[in-house]
Amino acid sequence: MKTLSWLLSRGFTVFFLSLSFVAIITLNYDANKLLLWFLLPFYAISLALQFFLPKIKKPLEKGELATDLISNSVLTLVNSLQSTGLAAIFALGSSSLLIEAGWIDPQWGLSNYAMWVQVLVGVLLLDFFFYTTHRMAHEVPMLWRFHSVHHCAHRVTFLNAYRVHPIDAMFRRFVPLFFVLLTGISEQALVAVAVIGSVLGTITHLNMDLKHGWLNYVIGTNEVHRWHHSSKYSEAKNFSVIMIWDHLFGTYYFPKDREMPERTGLGDETNYPRHSYWQMLLLPFRWDRLKGDKNDTRIAEQSSSTDAESIQEISAAKTADAS
Ligand SMILES: [Zn+2]
Ligand SMILES: [Zn+2]
Repeated sequence: MKTLSWLLSRGFTVFFLSLSFVAIITLNYDANKLLLWFLLPFYAISLALQFFLPKIKKPLEKGELATDLISNSVLTLVNSLQSTGLAAIFALGSSSLLIEAGWIDPQWGLSNYAMWVQVLVGVLLLDFFFYTTHRMAHEVPMLWRFHSVHHCAHRVTFLNAYRVHPIDAMFRRFVPLFFVLLTGISEQALVAVAVIGSVLGTITHLNMDLKHGWLNYVIGTNEVHRWHHSSKYSEAKNFSVIMIWDHLFGTYYFPKDREMPERTGLGDETNYPRHSYWQMLLLPFRWDRLKGDKNDTRIAEQSSSTDAESIQEISAAKTADAS
């Protein structure tokens, strides 16, 4: 039993990442077959394992499960919108708008290169724009109103990986996808990129005691991503999935002496409707009335240079409100 849990904690990520490559090739880049025979079983196994072997064991909070289930269902709609749009784009014959417009010679299109080059460039490029949009979602106050939905849960699990406001989901998916499509990537390579992205995205949020060692410096494992969900703004880094972008832009955060943040969630939960999905949908449009920018720790911290200044700023705002 001990050997099994050791193997599971050390081997889960490498095993399923390797299996994703095998599945992509064996199932011949067929999106439907990959969903049915690889991704859905992988999701089911992940869900079962984090249920039976959770890293953080605490009872579900009121409304937590319902919020995550509704959010997952809404995201399935966003996904089908995305798939329909992609199918229409590929039906046109070329994925590259720049080639279609005659701005780039077709011979420069990414689809002319070997499959492994296309997949590698696709993964890195998609993740670069994912890093950019994700960081913007944290640093632009208007975007944070939407992205805060993803950060309001008190634990990081596979289920709340997809707890996102649909507008945030569309912004952070469609913008990176748009830039990847400009390269003229082939449909098969894009399927491979999407499958690898989905496996990595699931692992980032798994509530399991996985140990990754050096892999923590290469991909956004659940050990690394837990810090992104810290309630302390100074710890909530690691925006990418392939960590190269965080290393490059100085936003990698992985302390060796601590396993996980003291608290996961928002810096300030005052007036935040954490367990009502429908209220969270409306929150970005009623933010000033419900939250007030000054009351949000994360945003207040961005507008000043040090934590101490932020705290003073928040205290001053609260005193002013009270008076
Ligand atoms: Zn985030
Ligand atoms: Zn997350």
